[in-house]
Amino acid sequence: RDEAYRSKSVGVCLCFPDLYETGFANAGIEILYRVINRRDDSYAERAYAADSDLAAALRGRGWPLFSLETRTPLKDFDIVGFGLPYELCFTNVLEMLDLGGIPLKAHERGKEDPLIIGGGPCVINPEPLADFFDGFVIGDGEEIFGEIIACMKAWKGSGASRTELLKSLARIEGFYVPSLYAVEYFPDGRVRSVTPTAEGVPASVAYRRSSLEAMEAPVVPFVQTVHDRLNVEIQRGCPWRCRFCQAGFSYRPYRERSKEDLLQIVEHGLKHTGYDAVTLAGLSAADHTEIVPLLQELSDKFSLRRVSIGLPSTRADRFTLAVAEILHSVRRQSLTFAPEGGTERMRRVIRKELQESEIRQTLSTAREHGWKSVKLYFMYGLPTETQEDLDGIVHLVSDSVKQNRGLALTLTLSPFVPKPHTPFQWHPMDTLDVHRKKLQDLRKRLAASIRAHGLEQIVVEGVLSRGDRRCGALLEYAWRTGSKFDEWSERFHFNVWQKAFAETGLTPEFFSQRVRTQDEVLPWDHIQGGPDKRALWNDYQTALKQAQESLPEKPHLKERPTVAPSRPVVLTSEKPVQRLRFRLSRHGDVRFLSHLEQIEMIRRMVRRAELPVAFTSGFHPQMKASFGPAISVGYESECELFDIELTQRLEPGQAFEKLSQEAPEGFSVLKASRVPLFFPSLESLLNRVEYRVRVPQDFLHAGGADLPAGLEEFLARKELTLEKIRKKGTAAETTVKIDLHPLILGAEWIMEESSPVLRLTLRFGPGKNAKPEKIAQLLLSLKDEDTARLAVERKAFWIEKPDGTLTEP
Ligand code: SF4
Repeated sequence: RDEAYRSKSVGVCLCFPDLYETGFANAGIEILYRVINRRDDSYAERAYAADSDLAAALRGRGWPLFSLETRTPLKDFDIVGFGLPYELCFTNVLEMLDLGGIPLKAHERGKEDPLIIGGGPCVINPEPLADFFDGFVIGDGEEIFGEIIACMKAWKGSGASRTELLKSLARIEGFYVPSLYAVEYFPDGRVRSVTPTAEGVPASVAYRRSSLEAMEAPVVPFVQTVHDRLNVEIQRGCPWRCRFCQAGFSYRPYRERSKEDLLQIVEHGLKHTGYDAVTLAGLSAADHTEIVPLLQELSDKFSLRRVSIGLPSTRADRFTLAVAEILHSVRRQSLTFAPEGGTERMRRVIRKELQESEIRQTLSTAREHGWKSVKLYFMYGLPTETQEDLDGIVHLVSDSVKQNRGLALTLTLSPFVPKPHTPFQWHPMDTLDVHRKKLQDLRKRLAASIRAHGLEQIVVEGVLSRGDRRCGALLEYAWRTGSKFDEWSERFHFNVWQKAFAETGLTPEFFSQRVRTQDEVLPWDHIQGGPDKRALWNDYQTALKQAQESLPEKPHLKERPTVAPSRPVVLTSEKPVQRLRFRLSRHGDVRFLSHLEQIEMIRRMVRRAELPVAFTSGFHPQMKASFGPAISVGYESECELFDIELTQRLEPGQAFEKLSQEAPEGFSVLKASRVPLFFPSLESLLNRVEYRVRVPQDFLHAGGADLPAGLEEFLARKELTLEKIRKKGTAAETTVKIDLHPLILGAEWIMEESSPVLRLTLRFGPGKNAKPEKIAQLLLSLKDEDTARLAVERKAFWIEKPDGTLTEP
C-alpha cells in the first residue's frame, strides 16, 4: 500500500501482547489481517510485544514501538487492536501502549490518538481492562470490524469529538465502550449496578457472531514460531458443554466448514506456504461431522508429498482406529487427550462425558499404532472435588502406565480457575495453600512426567478473570513495578503482584475465593456471552446435585461413529535420479536470518516450487537436500549453496525458473546446475572463501589515512593471532588462539560505490575459519561493539585443487 492510499484510508495495527514467536499463529489476528487488507478503504499491519532487550533499546533511543510491515509507530495508526488470549498478558498490553507512545488510560487520549480496541477470549469479562481500552469487540471480529472502520472513516472527516465517535461505536451490535457505563458498588465491594450513561447505548452488549470467512494462505514467518505449520480452522465453537469451559459456552453456535471447502483450503495453503504439516484446528476437531472422510482424503492427497496431518487436543472417545491410522501415515504429530477429572463422578459434575473405559481404549489404540508418548490433561480443585477424585487421577494414570508399556505419559496438571459465563462462575476457587497441598500430593504419587501450571500465576489469573474495573489499578501498579510477560513462569514475579494487592487494597479472597450468590450483580453481567444467567445458575445447581447422586450402574456409553476402515497410504521411497545445485543471494533484512532459519526457508521454497524431490525413508521423512556452510547472522551473501536430489529429471533452467518464482523478498536464485549424484557433499569440497567488509567512514578516520600501508604493515606482523572463545557460557569455556597467517590468502582495499571495502580471501575448512569482521577489527584497532557496524558480505566459495587451480562449486 503506497503513501497516497495510506493517507486516505483507515490504518489498523493488530497487536498481540506476547512475542512474535508465540503470537504469530493467533487465528484472530490472522483472520482480521486478511479481512481489513481486503477492503479498499483500510489496511492492517501487525505488532508484537518487545522483549526486554528491545524494549530497553527503544526507550534508550526514544523510539516508539512500531509495526512489522512499515515500521510505523503504533501511535500513528487510526486503530490499534489487541488480541487478548489470556489474562496474564494484560501487563504486556500496558507495556505496548506505553512503548507505542500512546497514553495509557482511555480518558487521557485525545483526537490525535488512536482508538484502542480489544478482542478475543478475555473480552468475555473486559472490566479489569476497562480503564485502558476505548472499546471491545464482543464476539467474532470478521463482520464488526468493517462497521468499526466505516464509523472511524466517517468520523475522521467530520470534526466531531472523540466522545461522539465512541457513542457511534457503542451503537454497533457487539461493540462495548466501557467509558459509557457507570459502575456503582456496595460498601462491601460487590457491584451494585452497571448502567449506560448516554442515550442510545445498550444496557447490555450481546456477543456478535459471524459466518466463517473463506480462508486464504497465511503469511509465512522466517523465524521458527510456536505453531510452525498450516493451521486450518475447521470449526468454531464446540458441540460439547463441559461446565468449566468458557470457550465451549461463548463460541456458540457450533459451526463447521465443509469437507470440500477444507480440502481446497489445505491445497491452496500448502501451495502458497510450503509447509509440510497441517493442523486441523478447532476446539474439538475430532467432532467435525466429516472428520474421518476429511482425514482420509487429505491423507490420500498429501501423504505422498510427506505432509503430515494433525489434530489438536482430541476427545478420547473420538480417537478411533480409523483416525489413528490416517494420522500416523506420514509422521506422528503429538497426541493430547484431556480427561480433566479423575473419576466418573467428577467428570459427570464437570460434564466431561467420558468413560474410563473409553480413555483406556484410546491409550491402547495409540500404543498399538506406534505412538511412543501421549499427553494427558487433568484439572484439580474442581467444584465438589474429594480426595477420592484426586486418587482417581493417580489410579487412572498408574493403571494406564501398567497396561501400556512403552507408551510414555506426560501429564499436565492445572488448577481449576472458574471463568465468567460458565455454570461455575459463582464458585469459589481453591486458595494457594490448598492448591499447593493437592499438587504436592499428586506429584508424589504419580508415576509419570508432570508439567504443572505455576500456582502463584493462577492466583493472579483467578482475580483478573473474574475481577471488576478496580482491577485496572492493580494491573497498572504491577506493570509499573516490573510485571511483564506474566504468562512465562520464569518471568512471573509473585512478590510484585503481592505488593500490588497490598497497595491497591484488592484481594484474591474477594475476587476469586468467596462464594457468590445467585442475586449478586457480576461485573460482567452486562456482557451477554452465552446462555442467560438463569440457565447457567440452574446448570450450576444441577452439577451440585449430580455430585451427590450415585452413578448409574451401567453407564450409558455413547456410540462411536461407525466409519469405513481407513486406507493407510503406503509410503515408498523413490530413488533419486538427479542432483541439482543452486546458488542463492541474500541481501537486506533477510541477512538477520540464522542458518537454520534459512534452511527452513529454502525447504519451503522448494516445496512451493513443487520440484519432484526425493525423501529419506523412516518415521520422519526428510527432503534429500544438503546445504552449504553455515552463514553468520548479519552477513549478506552471493553464494548460499544447496543441493537437492530429484526423483524425476529436470533441466536446470526449468528448476531455476520454478524456484526463482518462489524466492521471498531479499533472496534471489543466481544459478542452477547439474551435479553427479555420487559427488561428495558440498561442505567437504569447499576450501576457499571470499568476503567483503564495508567499513564506516568514521572508523577509517580513526584508524589512520593510508589504508594500503596499514594493511601491508598488518600482514607483515610476525605474530597475527585472533582469540576465539569455544563453548562460550559453559563450564567448558576455553579461549584458543588462531594464527591468521595461514588463513589469510589475500587481502586488499578496493573501492565500491566510492567507499573503501576490505576484500579478504580466506582458507576455509574444519578448524580453519576466521571471522572477517574480527580480522577487520584487529586491522583497524576497533572496539568489540564497533564490529556490529561492519557490513559483511560473503562473496564466493571456491574449490582449490592440490595443483592450485580454482573451480566454482
Ligand atoms: S470438549 Fe473441550 S472445547 Fe468442548 S466444551 Fe469440553 S473442554 Fe470445552
